[in-house]
Amino acid sequence: MTSSLLGQAYIICAPSGTGKSTLIKRLLSDLPGFAFSVSCTTRAPRAGEVNGRDYHFVTRAEFERMRGLGHFAEWAEVHGNFYGTPLAEARAILESGRDIIFDIDVQGALQLKQTIPDGCFIFLLPPSRQALVERLSRRASDGPEVIARRLANARNEIRQAPEFQYLIVNADLDQAYAELRAVVVAQKLAPERNPGLVDSILAGWSD
Ligand code: 5GP
Repeated sequence: MTSSLLGQAYIICAPSGTGKSTLIKRLLSDLPGFAFSVSCTTRAPRAGEVNGRDYHFVTRAEFERMRGLGHFAEWAEVHGNFYGTPLAEARAILESGRDIIFDIDVQGALQLKQTIPDGCFIFLLPPSRQALVERLSRRASDGPEVIARRLANARNEIRQAPEFQYLIVNADLDQAYAELRAVVVAQKLAPERNPGLVDSILAGWSD
């Protein structure tokens, strides 16, 4: 995918437990024109998740077949499951001029940098290790082993944060949301996102 794309891509990454899903949901309801990139995954659906809206839930064999056919813009194995971004869907959305949000892991984001170099790459950080431990522990669904694995992963992911363009610390949800929204809106105001704007204002300017 090249910079001739009309829509803006936002790639949002965060260690598990940082509040990424909550912030992305808020962004999508606040900025209704935005699309969400629906990934394929081999993990089982969680309660309330809808196939085709939250994810395309596929078997491992289906995932491998799609991967072999070059179906994915990027893919990664996260916490023992495969996840991939369908290339054609993302391209169609961007070519139609709509903005799109990608909720993907760090490995995937770094791959997507090659495919969508003019994407806006945002990393959400927990304020501290302790804050992340507390948030992960509050999730009743996860046992101590899962929490320990997520903490170890978080450290490795956070080490890659300087590769991103924007860092947002989620110490306070409203503050983090205000910063995320500011980044997203500011990105749309860049001259390269508004070709023809200056010319159209200057057209007919006589003095
Ligand atoms: P969950 O299973 O909790 O929905 O997601 C686990 C992790 O996989 C999250 O960090 C999420 O952002 C990431 N993820 C979701 N979809 C994709 C994808 O298409 N590609 C990659 N690389 N990661 C993804």
